[in-house]
Amino acid sequence: MSVSLFAGSPTGGKDVAHDEKPTRTCIGCRTRRTASALVRFKVLGGKLVVEGRKLLPGRGAWLCPSQDCLSRAVRSRGFPRALRQDVLVPDRAALWSDICSRVESLRQ
Ligand SMILES: [Zn+2]
Repeated sequence: MSVSLFAGSPTGGKDVAHDEKPTRTCIGCRTRRTASALVRFKVLGGKLVVEGRKLLPGRGAWLCPSQDCLSRAVRSRGFPRALRQDVLVPDRAALWSDICSRVESLRQ
């Protein structure tokens, strides 16, 4: 597989439809959505974690807060591909509950 989800530079690229809201591609369904509609993942100590409110610099993987997208991303190894490194993906149920609490904290 040679498909790169991050082929263009995320900061220096010149998108045709340049909106003020940054868009990211979900690694599950490959849909482009505004970053605020997606959940971001990082690698922490070799393990995949849902990123907190404060975005850390560096590479992240973006996903719709949807069980379908999560399943697809895990099945297609979207996480290690997007993060460009091997990553230990936790149990899907555990990951999903992390996503849910993350989304809830954003909605308060
Ligand atoms: Zn998706």
